Amino acid sequence: MNFKGLKLLCLICILVLSISWASTESCDFVIENVKLFDGSKVTEHANVYVKDGLVLRIDTNQTKINCKYKYLIEGKNKTLIPGLINAHVHIQSREDLKNSAQAGILTVMELLRLQEDSIAIFKSLANEAIYSDFYTSGIGVDMPDAVIKFYIQSLNPYAPKTTMDVELFISERIKKMVDFIKIYQDSRLPEKFSDTLFDKIIFETHKNNLLAIVHSETLKDTRYVFNHGADIVAHGWVDNLFTESDLKKWKERAFYIIPTLLAHTEIKKQLNPKSYTLSEDEIVGEVGRLHKAGITILAGSDAPAHGLNFTTDFYRELGLYVRAGLSPFEALKTASINPAKAYRLKNKGEIKVGAYADLVLIKGDVLNDINQLNKIESVWKKGVRIK
Ligand SMILES: [Zn+2]
Repeated sequence: MNFKGLKLLCLICILVLSISWASTESCDFVIENVKLFDGSKVTEHANVYVKDGLVLRIDTNQTKINCKYKYLIEGKNKTLIPGLINAHVHIQSREDLKNSAQAGILTVMELLRLQEDSIAIFKSLANEAIYSDFYTSGIGVDMPDAVIKFYIQSLNPYAPKTTMDVELFISERIKKMVDFIKIYQDSRLPEKFSDTLFDKIIFETHKNNLLAIVHSETLKDTRYVFNHGADIVAHGWVDNLFTESDLKKWKERAFYIIPTLLAHTEIKKQLNPKSYTLSEDEIVGEVGRLHKAGITILAGSDAPAHGLNFTTDFYRELGLYVRAGLSPFEALKTASINPAKAYRLKNKGEIKVGAYADLVLIKGDVLNDINQLNKIESVWKKGVRIK
């Protein structure tokens, strides 16, 4: 076939393809001409097509909408972002999951649940669109008289004291349907893990293909847990500025930090405990320094700890990242694609063809002003409009 013939064949193919798209494709709804943040990039004028709870197609507003839709949303002067992920919460009731979902936070990661009997119930709630998807660690690994006791005034009844106990502890958590393992490390408390025990906890966690998420409040403990194999650090530190040699190490492998900045700044303002030796500006500034150096930040609020809510306080957390020097684009990543990658969540944290249609439509340009998160117009969970 000569060049002309090939060209003709291509044209025919394109024609046939576009006719078949126009005549056979149907979808549930289309969001037209919207500014799209898909988790990794921004498209100024996009059309997003949704069908059966998934993103069916994304094109630009240059393309004529040929899909038979049930309804169409005008996206002009609005921003569409993926359903947000809160990387650190403690769910108390189904209302918390409902409120999170209404706020566009369609996935929550719980980093301690003492009442493990309720795990199955909370997970099954996620089948209803009005509730956020729920992932949990169940009860954390801690020494009996250590961090959990310090905060909750009750001993951890399952605390493993020997390496044999650790194996049993992890297998029990798996039976209870946990999604990852939370570990409590605080070397300031009188009762703490031996190296052998800590290493065994990480070993068993990884052997079962689970992530090890470790609570740390000091730089010393963050260094320790990194050196001993932690995947994600919750809270970070408020006592010292990290150094270049820390960075060099932390960049050697995937390592994620949930800085819970709002909780830290509230504690600093309200209580100013002795352990908070850094100033508020320094605590916030550490997140900017980490981000600049290429360490991945995950947004987590720790609600309802310190009186924080499951809704707008999460936006305030992102606002603090912007204060730390992240752009709104980068701050949104900490609540979408970053936690999806860190927690190995499939088809979440991104708006792409084939992903869940977890969508949040915001009035105005949230990529210009992160506070626009307070102007959410609509929320869809897996294609179902819940706001
Ligand atoms: Zn917490």
